[in-house]
Amino acid sequence: MQAPAIGGVQAPRGGGQTIRLSRGASLADFADKIGANPASLVQIMLHLGEMVTATQSVNEETLQLLAAELDYNLLVVSPEEEDRELLESFDIEFGEDEGDEGDLVARPPVVTVMGHVDHGKTKLLDAIRHTNEVAREAGGITQHIGAYQIATEHEGEDRKITFIDTPGHEAFTAMRARGAKVTDIAVLVVAADDGVKPQTIEALNHAQAADVPIVVAVNKVDKEGADPNKVRAQLTEYGLVAEEYGGTTMFVDISAKNGTGIDNLLEAILLTADAELDLRANPTMDAQGVAIEAHLDKGRGPVATVLVQRGTLRVGDSIVCGEAFGRVRALLDDNGKLIDEADPSRPVLVLGLTAVPGAGDNFIVVTDDRMARQIAQQRAARKRIADMARSGRRRTLEELFSEMEKGQVDELKLIIKGDVSGSVEALEDALLKIDVGDEVRLRVLHRAVGAITEYDVNLAVADDNAVIIGFNVRPEVRARDLAEREGVDIRYYSVIYQAIEEIEAALKGMLKPEFEEVQMGTAEVREVFKVPKIGNIAGALVRSGTIVRNSKARLIRGGVVISDNLTVSSLRRFKDDATEVREGYECGIGVGYNDIKLDDVIETFEMREKPRV
Ligand code: GDP
Repeated sequence: MQAPAIGGVQAPRGGGQTIRLSRGASLADFADKIGANPASLVQIMLHLGEMVTATQSVNEETLQLLAAELDYNLLVVSPEEEDRELLESFDIEFGEDEGDEGDLVARPPVVTVMGHVDHGKTKLLDAIRHTNEVAREAGGITQHIGAYQIATEHEGEDRKITFIDTPGHEAFTAMRARGAKVTDIAVLVVAADDGVKPQTIEALNHAQAADVPIVVAVNKVDKEGADPNKVRAQLTEYGLVAEEYGGTTMFVDISAKNGTGIDNLLEAILLTADAELDLRANPTMDAQGVAIEAHLDKGRGPVATVLVQRGTLRVGDSIVCGEAFGRVRALLDDNGKLIDEADPSRPVLVLGLTAVPGAGDNFIVVTDDRMARQIAQQRAARKRIADMARSGRRRTLEELFSEMEKGQVDELKLIIKGDVSGSVEALEDALLKIDVGDEVRLRVLHRAVGAITEYDVNLAVADDNAVIIGFNVRPEVRARDLAEREGVDIRYYSVIYQAIEEIEAALKGMLKPEFEEVQMGTAEVREVFKVPKIGNIAGALVRSGTIVRNSKARLIRGGVVISDNLTVSSLRRFKDDATEVREGYECGIGVGYNDIKLDDVIETFEMREKPRV
């Protein structure tokens, strides 16, 4: 269908026809859908007042504007929807238990421990594990696989609880950002000697936003100065009211260090789960779940810890996990013990994948290897397109102008390599959140699990001095040599906070210095002397601060600035030159300006570089 030209440009009109595009699509994608020339769409957008190139990713508003202009009904689909559709095309539904009520069986709660740094999250996770060690089978060696399950007796019944072993809300948010809902209950750790802190609130907000019930562990009650009741009082302000204060939130006093109160905490978790949640799953279907952590093991290849959410995962299953696929070669539990199958809420290490999946990627058992490969490949292809779209972030005309006015836009480019995907993502997430204003941008060119390779160094070189971050990883020998030759900056960290601090400082260093005026002193004019050849000099009394020779000054009369941009060119105490005169003293001040009157105020100031906060 050929329509009247828009601003002289021809493009096929839709006549209300519906088309679908993924979020972040480009005009070229649009053109492809309607069989138009991409250049013609660029021109139409220009007529509509937006400057967009054919291949750059544009926002939904722009796509809708163009669709309306060309009379199409546009549906923009999110990556999650797209993935759902992809799976549907293979007759797979992710996230739903098959069967009816009768097929559902109770499953253990999955718990994430969150809270302010140093309040004892790691210690608590260790303590819980340790308390439970007696209940373990002998011969097992504790393995940190990203999650573990414990057994405990509750109201005469044997119950299990699964703990996600990567403390901190970064991991929690990174997973949630990918649409993975892993956590059933959040344990908020607050140190009784320190009270509620910024990250306590952050963690609380994340948990509440995700609609996850919270159990508060008031930790370090063994310490002098511990005030557990203060923590309870503080948290009421944030809507967490303790049961003993008439609320519904369970608070448990613990000492992760001494191992006291741990049983009470486990009980509180189970009570909260039973009261507020209906945790059931169908154990008989093909397994589905989420990858919690993954890394490349030298001997064993890609290794992923997955949390089974429904169904039962077995050795020999064909599995697809994000863009990775394969056949389950072996399953190991958190004791490093080989097991044959894993039921709902069980975290398990999976061997046999072809690649390292990302934390938060869903995993699905499918009928055969071929299907697994097809799904993985289609996901990978789509991701490449999305990545390309993302690298060309769209800017409005206004933004472009203001950037041009400001001069060069500064950008810090990073390549992040880490030992496990969970930490790579947590780090990327945290770094992208650093806010230093609009002038400096941080861009992650590439992120992956594994040692720093020549590829990474080459990428850094190609992209104009990108910085490589190694989180618990080191470069391969050839990569190290290449980096040295090319002068590529590689930075090593093993603590996320340290990395964040340094990058933040680097970003601040890149900011052009900003100056602020700092007032130094004021003096009131009491007399005006005429000095031959020099001009008028003020006989003045220093009212505040100090008047320093050569400092900047302005002259104020009745609250109005008479002259700015002056300099204290001469300063005298009686007959002598002075470098500075303090508050309460009289002096003679020359500012190279003759229109000085009685009662004028001379204000001196200096421009200081403003520290970025
Ligand atoms: P995280 O940053 O929240 O993971 O905190 P950590 O678990 O690393 O604990 C921070 C510090 O507090 C460590 O030095 C711990 O030994 C200490 N700590 C943790 N729990 C307790 C406790 O119950 N009592 C005392 N006295 N110290 C604790």
